[in-house]
Amino acid sequence: MGDCIFCKIIEGELPSKKVYEDDHVLAFHDIQPAAPIHVLIIPKKHFASLDAAGEEDWAIVGQTQRAAQNIARELGVAESGYRVVTNCGSNAGQVVHHLHYHLLAGAKLAPLGV
Ligand code: 5GP
Ligand code: ZN
Repeated sequence: MGDCIFCKIIEGELPSKKVYEDDHVLAFHDIQPAAPIHVLIIPKKHFASLDAAGEEDWAIVGQTQRAAQNIARELGVAESGYRVVTNCGSNAGQVVHHLHYHLLAGAKLAPLGV
């Protein structure tokens, strides 16, 4: 947790381009966008991944997805469509071990797969 870059962003120790914030959730633009719109949505509570979520964390996981719905509407992509995805663990290519959802939009996205 001490070295977690997303916790540092939450604390304001690292800069980010915020798009949404409430008591439990923060969203900001990805530093290396993989689509015209690429927003990361994270719980302010640190846990490593979806797999690390405990019984007490489901409400906040739901709030991150609710934020995704709001942000997609705010950014005007709700109608054209968007993808919300989380990488969990090594085969998924997870690099930052603080749960985050990628919101990708603004173009026709490539199909999911290997
Ligand atoms: P993962 O592969 O763990 O699912 O995705 C991590 C994401 O975090 C990547 O898309 C990467 O570009 C993004 N990222 C890594 N470091 C930073 C940072 O310091 N600021 C921002 N805004 N995004 C970051
Ligand atoms: Zn963290």
